[in-house]
Amino acid sequence: MTDDTVSDEDREVPTVSCERCGREWELDREVDDLDPGSHAIEQFALDHERHTGHYPDGVTPWIARCDRCPDGERFLAERPARRWAETHARHTRHDVRLEPPTGAAETVSAEGTADRS
Ligand SMILES: [Zn+2]
Ligand SMILES: [Zn+2]
Repeated sequence: MTDDTVSDEDREVPTVSCERCGREWELDREVDDLDPGSHAIEQFALDHERHTGHYPDGVTPWIARCDRCPDGERFLAERPARRWAETHARHTRHDVRLEPPTGAAETVSAEGTADRS
């Protein structure tokens, strides 16, 4: 209970660096209540992009962008990106472009993705 001297060095502190800013951050404080790493890095990357207009090193977002209205979002994982695209397409009957970090973009329409009949 009282020996909190051990924890700091044994714990893996996730760090994020950004070449464009020439900086590196430790995300120690933010991960206390979360799964190690991932969430904090995701949150940090989104915040960083909001402030600077770019993502830190090693972070490439999924981009869901509507073809028909200015709506769009960025995500750091496929599942929420796809869910956003499908939801928007279904509600508005707009086609949404889903751009993965690498590879070809696909179009999500109200009927679902192309490979569903
Ligand atoms: Zn930066
Ligand atoms: Zn739309």
